[in-house]
Amino acid sequence: MRAAILHGPKDLRVQDVPDPEGEVIVEVEAATTCGTDVKMWRHGHRVLPPYPCRFGHETAGVRADTGERVLVSDSVACGACEPCRAGREQICREPTWVLGGFAERIAAPRAALHRIPDGLPAPAAAMAEPLAAAVHAVDRATDATDVGIVGGGPMGLMLTSLLTAQGRSVMLADPHAERRAQAAELGARGVERLDQRHELVFEAVGRPETWRIAAGAAAPGGVVVLVGGCPSGSEVVLDPGPLHYEELELRGTFHHSPADVDRALIALADGTVPWRTLLGETISLAELPAALEAPTGGPAKKWVVDPRV
Ligand SMILES: [Zn+2]
Ligand SMILES: [Zn+2]
Repeated sequence: MRAAILHGPKDLRVQDVPDPEGEVIVEVEAATTCGTDVKMWRHGHRVLPPYPCRFGHETAGVRADTGERVLVSDSVACGACEPCRAGREQICREPTWVLGGFAERIAAPRAALHRIPDGLPAPAAAMAEPLAAAVHAVDRATDATDVGIVGGGPMGLMLTSLLTAQGRSVMLADPHAERRAQAAELGARGVERLDQRHELVFEAVGRPETWRIAAGAAAPGGVVVLVGGCPSGSEVVLDPGPLHYEELELRGTFHHSPADVDRALIALADGTVPWRTLLGETISLAELPAALEAPTGGPAKKWVVDPRV
């Protein structure tokens, strides 16, 4: 079969490889790209197996054995570690990562598969993977009605749609006018920077300086939910004053549980999350290397890799 194989940083080759082996084989119909794929392509990632390796972690397709349409979740928790036993599978210490969506077929454990609701197209279903992380991030937050979001990439916009659907007032800050316009389409106010303080703030960029900005945008007694992962080895400098005198609370959020994935699929199918806003161009496997290299900026869109084209 054809697959995109990472041979090292910035060395991505589309080539013929043996079919994958595993519990269930899924014929890929759509694999969406995200910032993590760009990181993986550019300088590797801690969850990648040794080179050469397959990647692509937002994958939807059809089970080769039953013909059922499924989303392939990118991880299966061990079920045995301390966080798993405490019901926090998203921070499992020994997860099995399921990568390889940028290929004609992917092998997955049965536990990674989620049925796609009828009528939801494959490219939208693939987005349930990142959306599940947004669903989990909202669970980690409070029910405050006054919300600020730092970052208008796909994650910031997914958070926006979940929060505005709950009737909350959302202000989203992003330097790109196109992304502010996307936030406005989703019912938020798009601004260049958060110039007032909010009861609840989400950081959806993943840089030390934006973590600092998010902490600075929280009102006294507020909660900051940190969604974006900073590069490993980075350090964040925070003003200790508000943390202490204003009892600011910083909450990390990571990944998702299987239940979050099912909730995300429902939110996509019932229109809570207008996924077309984020839907970018459909490309072939051969076009993937150039797409990952393309400069970011402009509207927040996800490429859809369809290995059949
Ligand atoms: Zn992703
Ligand atoms: Zn575990």
